[in-house]
Amino acid sequence: MGRVPPAAGLRSPEGDLLGPRENAGRHRPRRVAMLSVHTSPLHQPGTGDAGGMNVYIVELAKRLAALGVAVEIFTRTTSAALPPRVELAPGVLVRHVDAGPYEGLAKDDLPARLCAFAHGVTQAWAGERPGHYDLVHSHYWLSGHVGRLTAERWGVPLVHAMHTMAKVKNAGLADGDTPEPAARVAGEAEVVRAAHRLIANTEKEAGELLHHYDADPGRVAVVHPGVDLERFWPDARGADAGRVAARSRLGLPRDALIPLFVGRIQPLKAPDVLLRAVARLLQERPGLRERLVVPVVGGPSGSGLTRPEGLQKLAARLGVSDVVLFRPPVGQDRLADWYRAASVLVVPSHSESFGLVAVEAQACGTPVIAAEVGGLPVAVRDGVSGVLVPGHDPAHYARALSAFADDPARSARMSEAAVRHARSFGWAATAAATAEVYTAALRGHRLHRVP
Ligand code: UDP
Repeated sequence: MGRVPPAAGLRSPEGDLLGPRENAGRHRPRRVAMLSVHTSPLHQPGTGDAGGMNVYIVELAKRLAALGVAVEIFTRTTSAALPPRVELAPGVLVRHVDAGPYEGLAKDDLPARLCAFAHGVTQAWAGERPGHYDLVHSHYWLSGHVGRLTAERWGVPLVHAMHTMAKVKNAGLADGDTPEPAARVAGEAEVVRAAHRLIANTEKEAGELLHHYDADPGRVAVVHPGVDLERFWPDARGADAGRVAARSRLGLPRDALIPLFVGRIQPLKAPDVLLRAVARLLQERPGLRERLVVPVVGGPSGSGLTRPEGLQKLAARLGVSDVVLFRPPVGQDRLADWYRAASVLVVPSHSESFGLVAVEAQACGTPVIAAEVGGLPVAVRDGVSGVLVPGHDPAHYARALSAFADDPARSARMSEAAVRHARSFGWAATAAATAEVYTAALRGHRLHRVP
């Protein structure tokens, strides 16, 4: 597990001993086929199946292209209006593949369409020069299956990122949430066995790959996701001035306590825990009602498709509808203003592979209250840039919120620390580390083939 050792002593196909620098050059891919079957990098994140993985793929691809690695992202055509190819950025192409009806297919229907998708990718490849792709990088287990087939057919290595894992999700299900099916668990295990390299977001996720899926530790590398620091930044005049300005732009009261929720509305993200915590806080401190606003930014997703309504009903039942603002998903520039305006971001998820929203909010100078699950203890420095809460008892979240209401000096300290912590993440670093994983995968793959 971890970083791959340097390639001293490696031989070329002609039998010459290669130095490490020469190796790296030889083993840096020129063009990568990236696979994202179930969700497109062109979709608006924060609703449906579009979330952190979409942001991850777009940002990684752009930064890889800047390093000289061209990226072609294959995704399923979901509308007749989509052209076969869209240039997302210089060196980054999105290619639409027909696989099943354009509209009306849910993610759960896609395993039956994977054959058609793999066929479409292979056809697209057949139209290119031989050796067009040096490596396949698949995201999420559905793409992993297509990756397995295409990488083998093209004689190139497969690098895979799970993003989420069924066994981990099932271990942390919200009450009443549907468990991930056994077919997904089996499918993930097959992809783990087939991949030449696996990329995990955190050490914890790497451990889960080993523990739950029996991954080969020598094939697992940890690469932290990043944050776009040119988009998510604190106001130069300081967090307080920035908060006032952002509140005015969003039409929010200047002096309110604003705990913000950002993300897809689904049981796994537990927005209900925040609403219950708010209800509890107001029970204990009714005086806060006058200065409390709780924005919930995001759209319905998966089994949460009926949830926005469900969540609105819950807010009404809890008697907090007057303080909760439901807002549809927004572009990231607008989202940066919601982060700046907030007193604290609340991420009460039951399971979270990393939690990009937590780092984005911190980059804007906003501390985070997060559940102590998955990658969130890496994304948030407990007691420094925010607060980690074990479990999902609303009373504990209410207590954490109360502290933000009472102690502005502590909030200001956390805000500064949050900016510093977020700056330790960046997509350029993610891309550089990913390129190293590619190099290791190519090196291992070619070594294998050199007699
Ligand atoms: N997001 C967005 N607009 C919204 C809500 C969310 O662009 O209205 C983005 C957000 O900036 C973040 C991503 O969606 O980059 C969510 O990623 P995260 O890792 O927090 O959750 P995931 O969706 O992967 O479960």
